[in-house]
Amino acid sequence: MSQTQQPGPVFSGRASAVRASEVVLSLVASGLVGMRGWSGVRQLQHPYHRSLQLGLDRLAALCVRAGRAAPVGVQDLVGVWCAEQPVDAWPLEFDPDAQVRGERLLIGGEPSEFCLEWAVAAKDVVSEVHESALVKHIKDTAALLGRPELYARWRLFITSHAVLGPDAFLAAKNAVLDVPQWATWMEESYGPVPVELAVSGRVAVCGGCEQWIAPRADGLVRCRVWRCGQRHDLPGPVWVEAEGARRLEPELVRFVALPGHPELDLAQRLAARGARVVLYPKLDALDLVALWPNGYSVGVDVKDWHSPYLLARRIKTFPRWGAGDPYAYRKGYLVVPHDRLRSNRSYLKILERHSAALRAQPEIEVVSDRVLVASCPDVGPVGEVVCGA
Ligand SMILES: [Zn+2]
Repeated sequence: MSQTQQPGPVFSGRASAVRASEVVLSLVASGLVGMRGWSGVRQLQHPYHRSLQLGLDRLAALCVRAGRAAPVGVQDLVGVWCAEQPVDAWPLEFDPDAQVRGERLLIGGEPSEFCLEWAVAAKDVVSEVHESALVKHIKDTAALLGRPELYARWRLFITSHAVLGPDAFLAAKNAVLDVPQWATWMEESYGPVPVELAVSGRVAVCGGCEQWIAPRADGLVRCRVWRCGQRHDLPGPVWVEAEGARRLEPELVRFVALPGHPELDLAQRLAARGARVVLYPKLDALDLVALWPNGYSVGVDVKDWHSPYLLARRIKTFPRWGAGDPYAYRKGYLVVPHDRLRSNRSYLKILERHSAALRAQPEIEVVSDRVLVASCPDVGPVGEVVCGA
């Protein structure tokens, strides 16, 4: 690494140096992700995302303190620092468990998965709200109406429907006639299909993540979701007529539908083995509670993160519900996709070291999806997936 020849950063304490470094990385990452109409480094134009400028300012200050040359502007930061240098070559200091070695923020002109996760972490840094205003509104209204199952139902619906034709949209709006707010929620969740989303009058829906795909500038239709890009067996897209259709709002795609995909997948695999699975009980206090055919019950949160260091901060304490509660469960599991654990042997150790919630509740077990599904006894008829209240 080049900076071994350079004087190291001068800080009062290591913890504050790590903190300052994490703020810079989060700001730059969220700036890269937040730039709308992103079409590659060369076409970078004003105005820059505010986070990117803030990140640049702070990075420049740290460079000065470390006696290093700072990026000369946003163009240099994005085109050279983010696109060509791994983050461990920057004059920053990280916890070894953050596993930044060799990681770049941009790969092929697109934010890397590493970048996307640090961008989400930035929401803590700049203390923005985690949930969109709409998610919070629906949660609050469902609670107020005494119909918490409608929140789970809305979540399930939008996670499994990315694009709706005119008839399907009308049916979706009329699905809960005794609650007039439901139609409004649907109106606000689905917007008209923008011209740039259609290719020859149709919208592509990814066969992997089941979300709509924005065609690239060269007209190529390839899902930008990191997980889909890595798959060799990715099914081709499904095409939906764009005329009069509605598509799920981008914010809901990113913060509800994409994270919800592994949750639904797990629910369906458990149900296939005979479990009765309740999704999002008590306004999403847990992702799911499942009753197995032999009467055993589990409470589950599903988290699909590349970085265990960043995931550790996101783990909530599991709720404890008394024996009389309809959603009482015997054991809590934090489920991480199998491939995450396989590709990073330190994953579990790093999670345990950095998660206050896991330390506070040592009875919560971290397992892969495969292990959890395999431990559900496959006996008797197929179970079901229902929405929690
Ligand atoms: Zn996809």
